[in-house]
Amino acid sequence: MPIRLLRPDVSSKIAAGEVIERPASAVKELIENSLDAGATRISVEVRGGGSELIRISDNGVGIPSDEVSLAFQRFATSKVNSADDLDGIKTLGFRGEALPSISAVSRVTLVTRYERESEGTRFEVHDGDVVSHEPAGAPTGTTITVRQLFRNLPARQKFLKTIGTETSRIQIAVTRYALAYPEVRFELNPDKGRRFASPGTGDLRSVVAAVYGLQNAEGMLDMSPTEVDESSPMVWGLVSPPSMDRANRSYICFFVNRRWVQNRFLSFALEQAYHGFMAERRFPMGVVNINMPYEDVDVNAHPAKAEVRFRRENQIFGAVQQAVRQALITHSPVPEVQRSASGHAPPTASPQSASGAFWLTAPFSRPSTSERARLAEIAGWTGGHENRQPSNAAGAPVPEPLAPRNALPVLRVLGQVQTTYIAAEGPDGMYLIDQHAAHERVMFERVRAEATARNPEVQSLLEPAIVQLNPEHQELLETQREIVGSLGFAVEPFGGDSFLIRGVPALLGEADPAGALVGILDLMAEGGGFESWEERAAYSIACHSAIRAGKVLSHQEMMELTRQLEDCAQPNTCPHGRPTMIHLSSVHLEREFGRT
Ligand code: ADP
Ligand code: MG
Repeated sequence: MPIRLLRPDVSSKIAAGEVIERPASAVKELIENSLDAGATRISVEVRGGGSELIRISDNGVGIPSDEVSLAFQRFATSKVNSADDLDGIKTLGFRGEALPSISAVSRVTLVTRYERESEGTRFEVHDGDVVSHEPAGAPTGTTITVRQLFRNLPARQKFLKTIGTETSRIQIAVTRYALAYPEVRFELNPDKGRRFASPGTGDLRSVVAAVYGLQNAEGMLDMSPTEVDESSPMVWGLVSPPSMDRANRSYICFFVNRRWVQNRFLSFALEQAYHGFMAERRFPMGVVNINMPYEDVDVNAHPAKAEVRFRRENQIFGAVQQAVRQALITHSPVPEVQRSASGHAPPTASPQSASGAFWLTAPFSRPSTSERARLAEIAGWTGGHENRQPSNAAGAPVPEPLAPRNALPVLRVLGQVQTTYIAAEGPDGMYLIDQHAAHERVMFERVRAEATARNPEVQSLLEPAIVQLNPEHQELLETQREIVGSLGFAVEPFGGDSFLIRGVPALLGEADPAGALVGILDLMAEGGGFESWEERAAYSIACHSAIRAGKVLSHQEMMELTRQLEDCAQPNTCPHGRPTMIHLSSVHLEREFGRT
């Protein structure tokens, strides 16, 4: 076929395909338009999961009558003028694509009145064709009704899920904006499913009460805005105490300059702040706002504007982690490490221990260079802390075993402390090994090696496990079947949303097969390309199979674990970048006891 320019009626549908994937995407775009128009009340009516009808009314400024038809043309926008404007976008919309895209694949009726005009406009477009354009009486603001979405795109229609699922996606979109804009009153009236209304008083906690229930709202901890200069990110919002944990990440929202964003690094920064407070594979709830200079964030990186790029990633992740950790520490203090009671202590404890963050005790050698460790480092966990061991803090010469290196000396196991740490002796002093972190490291390296070799040892389950998967996970299982298989999972449909797990990676051992599978699908769902599939899967399987803190270990088991850790390529940190052990050097012990 010769190369030709697509006819506009064709290309407009392609655009629609990108921006408007499903009814919830239309709702999202239209709410963004209302917010950009300065609305303080936005009401959303939905029928048939949005395919039958979506109606959004706002009390924003409205559209001037002579601009209405232009608003429906592709790349027509009032929000961006020059290419320079794209460098510091302050509005939610900027591409001028939503109205043309939606109206190309539905029947749209728009009634609007501009605040400075006495008469409004009624404008109707069917599948991209203008069918009426006339003056109309209307209050200031805009009401847009979208009927029969995707009726002319049967292929897209087929991809839609049930009315219930599509409605719940719309609910998620609306509640996210309600959380981002507590001063705006949102209403959602679906024909099926829960009605929702936010109070619009400006109080975030009241919106959380409307979205997640009163009890959750009352339990959330305040992250007060950090006092910073204008060029630094400001983080504020509400996060749950560790006791209010959840099985997945769907209760975590990030808003950058009030735009909902998805960012794997941000979630990681948040989750890491809870590390040690919360059980593995449990997740906090959180509404985290990040305000930062507009030019430091690129929102033009993704068709749906959900993914953003930061100019100074490290700074943002550090700020998020700091703010969350501060909230946790302020509200639920953790025991401090007592460096010394003898008076021979190094001059002062490090700033970290002053904040009570026990686990920040430095790993005794350089953090690993793996991507995950890099992630941990940007999140502020290991980077720059190498020199904070007691001996260095005191200015003493650095003893040999503290020099950056990855190999462990051969250790002699002494016993278990608090059913959590293994006490061991090495050529230069004493080691306390975190049994969970250490085992996680061991499992991580093994699973990754097997997955990379595409040669997992598969363990058939005598009794297949049943797992229920949400629509997103089902899609992933379908599209990533090969990867899931190459990890050692044998999964087959079992009717409805149920699936049978017949085989698991042997390394998973006794761990919960369903939890491990869901964990991997969760990680896949999040996307983000900073590490390989193998690494991600290994991370999830390691999390599930590693022994827990609190488990009594026999001397034999402790010895085995210590040997396995010695064999690791990067024994000093767990896959999250947290230290697997603390080293008390002979020099340090001698000083503490006043022997030198
Ligand atoms: P974008 O939001 O990227 O500018 P849209 O296609 O979503 O593109 O909207 C096109 C233009 O129509 C907007 O720039 C705005 O001027 C106008 N508009 C759309 N919806 C509304 C609304 N609810 N209230 C006021 N103006 C609106
Ligand atoms: Mg828009």
